Amino acid sequence: MSSDCIFCKIIKGEAPADFVYKDEDLVVFRNIRPSAPVHVLVVPVEHIESINALEEKHSSIIAKMILKARDIAKQLGIADSGYKLVTNVGWGGGQRVFHLHIHLIGGWGKSI
Ligand code: 5GP
Ligand code: ZN
Repeated sequence: MSSDCIFCKIIKGEAPADFVYKDEDLVVFRNIRPSAPVHVLVVPVEHIESINALEEKHSSIIAKMILKARDIAKQLGIADSGYKLVTNVGWGGGQRVFHLHIHLIGGWGKSI
């Protein structure tokens, strides 16, 4: 946990979020500034800064995040039309919240 991390605060219930899913390992909530009709964030409970900070022990949570993103895409009705999974890494990669997350983005329809 990192006390000044907004995603840690959301996970701890100290900041609000519109949750789509949560369990003991990961949470999924809607992006406060969506860039598509569907834009949710898949976030591990553990405070990991980014892909750059991953260790071998994180293999299972990464797999779980991707599988959950796939399931949530189906749940939100965008599995067939298609979607993007995006992870920004570092400031130059567009990362602004330094708690690992996968953007699940879609809902434009059949083509973009
Ligand atoms: P990054 O640029 O780090 O890959 O993405 C961070 C994302 O988190 C941004 O798309 C931003 O809109 C979202 N975000 C930042 N603060 C909050 C917040 O307090 N609540 C929610 N739901 N999303 C947030
Ligand atoms: Zn955090």
